[in-house]
Amino acid sequence: METVINHWKSKVEFKARVEEWAQKLAIDVRSVAVRPMRKKWASCSTNGNLSFNADLLDMETEIGDYVIVHELLHFSAPNHGKLWKMLMRAHLGNYEAIERTLRQRSAPEIPEGRETNVS
Ligand SMILES: [Zn+2]
Repeated sequence: METVINHWKSKVEFKARVEEWAQKLAIDVRSVAVRPMRKKWASCSTNGNLSFNADLLDMETEIGDYVIVHELLHFSAPNHGKLWKMLMRAHLGNYEAIERTLRQRSAPEIPEGRETNVS
């Protein structure tokens, strides 16, 4: 098993990764913001403005990748149906494992429960 855990160096690096994924997935992103959010890991507006929870910067890069791809795929698949799941698997492999980690991670800190669905 690979045990190397990578962390984000900066907000700039995180945003660069969003751009990278957007290009790879051929999605037009208008703006990317990383800011404190109380109840969500990320959100996107219909005109292509993306926001990510600043807490993600303190987590492993694989969790950031999960949230980035999750959100970007909603541009082509609005819900978590078959198409979305298929694309998640194609790009991230065993994404359910990361999803579980994220769900466990969010519970103790935010009593009212934070959405694991990022949009
Ligand atoms: Zn979602």
